[in-house]
Amino acid sequence: MSSLVGPDEDDPRGKPPVPDEVQDAIRTLIRWAGDDPEREGLLDTPARVGRAWKEYCLGYTEDPAIHLSRVFEEVGGYDEIVLLKDIPFQSHCEHHMAPIIGKAAIAYLPTNRVVGISKLARVLHGYARRLQIQERLTAEVAQCIWDHLEPRGVAVVIDANHSCMTARGVRTPGVSMVTSRVMGIFRSDHRSREEVLKLMGY
Ligand SMILES: [Zn+2]
Repeated sequence: MSSLVGPDEDDPRGKPPVPDEVQDAIRTLIRWAGDDPEREGLLDTPARVGRAWKEYCLGYTEDPAIHLSRVFEEVGGYDEIVLLKDIPFQSHCEHHMAPIIGKAAIAYLPTNRVVGISKLARVLHGYARRLQIQERLTAEVAQCIWDHLEPRGVAVVIDANHSCMTARGVRTPGVSMVTSRVMGIFRSDHRSREEVLKLMGY
């Protein structure tokens, strides 16, 4: 039988501890919202929320460029667009800390190196798991691929719903926001841009 003694010995559930000050802050927020943080259903909520936020913001613990460090230079003469689309992601807006839920399409035109296709999604998640605005998220993903794969072109399109707009404020469910960043030949050459956007479905 494996020993229960270890880093989690103070917490039999094996979950990472949440500092008191963080839990206090969440209790304050619950009170501010109008509820009683001491009622039974809310007793474990501060710790749960604290752990959830660590998970939402896991991107702060990594440099997304790490996912582009292993490249394949044997591309068999392939010099057409590589596209990953309908990549689901979740982020949080930095203005309201509310969910941003959407999908992304990421394309590049390789020169002499490509990456495993799942790596593009990992770069997206690395930047999405932070407090963001959609415009910066789009730009950061494109720039990271541009800098580390040195492709002839990069295009990133993100289509997302912002809970701060659908669940509060003007309350307009169904409205999505689309942002794009095109670089290199996708920016300078009209036909290349049209081709990639068409492949993406835009
Ligand atoms: Zn917002």
